Amino acid sequence: MLRWNEVSADAQAAALMRPAVSASVKVKEICQTIMANVKEQGDDALLAMAKEFDNRPTPRLLVPIEEINNAVQQLSPELRYAIDTAYANVKRFHQAQLPKDIKLTTQPGVLCELKYQAIEAVGLYVPGGSAALPSSVIMQGVLAQLSGAKTIVLATPVQGNAQINSAILYAAKLCGITTIVESGGAGAIAAMAYGTGSVPKVNKIFGPGNSFVTMAKQLVAQTIPGMAIDMPAGPSEVLVIADERANPEFIAADLLSQAEHGADSQVILLSNNELTIERTQHAIERQLAKLSRQDIAAKALANSSLILVDSIDQAFDVSAQYGPEHLILQLADANPYLGKVKNAGSVFVGDYTPESAGDYASGTNHVLPTYGYSATYSSLNLLDFFRTYTVQTITQNGLKNLSKAILPLADAEGLDAHANAVKVRLEAMNRGNE
Ligand code: NAD
Repeated sequence: MLRWNEVSADAQAAALMRPAVSASVKVKEICQTIMANVKEQGDDALLAMAKEFDNRPTPRLLVPIEEINNAVQQLSPELRYAIDTAYANVKRFHQAQLPKDIKLTTQPGVLCELKYQAIEAVGLYVPGGSAALPSSVIMQGVLAQLSGAKTIVLATPVQGNAQINSAILYAAKLCGITTIVESGGAGAIAAMAYGTGSVPKVNKIFGPGNSFVTMAKQLVAQTIPGMAIDMPAGPSEVLVIADERANPEFIAADLLSQAEHGADSQVILLSNNELTIERTQHAIERQLAKLSRQDIAAKALANSSLILVDSIDQAFDVSAQYGPEHLILQLADANPYLGKVKNAGSVFVGDYTPESAGDYASGTNHVLPTYGYSATYSSLNLLDFFRTYTVQTITQNGLKNLSKAILPLADAEGLDAHANAVKVRLEAMNRGNE
């Protein structure tokens, strides 16, 4: 347990330091090499990487359409119900986000419009290194489908001798996705960014992933003209704020549900009550022993902190400093504090709102900014699949009136040609009126 007010500012910063950030220089070099290979060798590089990193004995790239269509037969009725429910809730919540064009007359004769246009070709990355994540298909695929994108490519790595996960294929089918590539990491990102013989080139790449995926996304966005990414969504993190009456079993379960994502995940508890922290520590040990992914969760716990703060108000200040991807509020009454929430990706309010609900099926999106980017980036939403552009249409009278704003500004900026583009029209109008 770390007593926030009793340690130095350096120790406080160290407690909130994200583990993956320190590895980024090496990760960058590895990603640059991989991306150059994919650019030069295309599909061959992807196949070689599937062997090297995913231990695929006989790798393939594209999943045949019949396999996508028939995947439903491999699912239990319970899993099919779960995917259908998650799909429906996520669709409902994101359909409500469909944007509307704006058409507005700013002054007589001057019409301005804001138009939304779906990004034409999108690439969705679904992590698959340590676990197959059909939920990540839904969280991205539904949005791509709702946007009306013309090309949707989904890339996910498959490990060892396994076949691609049927739940991933079924979720993709619900979202209308027909191009599924068995490829992971920086190679998959490069393939979608550059295009290869099998993988169509896209305009924007979405999706969470490990440090290699996150770095590759940032690199392609910097180096390929016109290429966009959703956000730096990397190793997962959760911060729980709990008061003295919070249930330590609930807190421990929430912390572990995040820790099991990956060894580089991070979990933080902030409480104003020492006993709550001690009991949570014991509950973590008990629950960890029963988890199938206890090795991964234990490694993540090593990067994690249980912190005693003076007050719940201080907990919100520390949380804002950290900028958590997920923020769980296990408080007697969280509502008065909601106005204090800052820099969080997705917030879970109350004892009965576990993060797993948002991860899977409540309807909110689970692709969220990490590394503290939640201070400036938003959780994935439908607008991320659109671009906007503007249109203006001006009448003769409109331009005559607007010239009183344009000409002095063009003069003030010394841009004669700008002024001239208005003056020649005003002169033509005058000639027309003679
Ligand atoms: P992944 O698919 O992200 O990465 C696996 C790929 O990484 C492999 O296919 C390989 O290409 C590459 N790779 C692995 N080791 C490599 C090496 N040494 N050199 C080069 N490339 C290598 O799957 P993962 O590893 O299981 O990671 C999933 C991550 O996604 C976790 O960190 C998890 O926390 C995160 N996640 C985040 C969110 C979010 O919304 N932020 C949601 C779900 C998962």
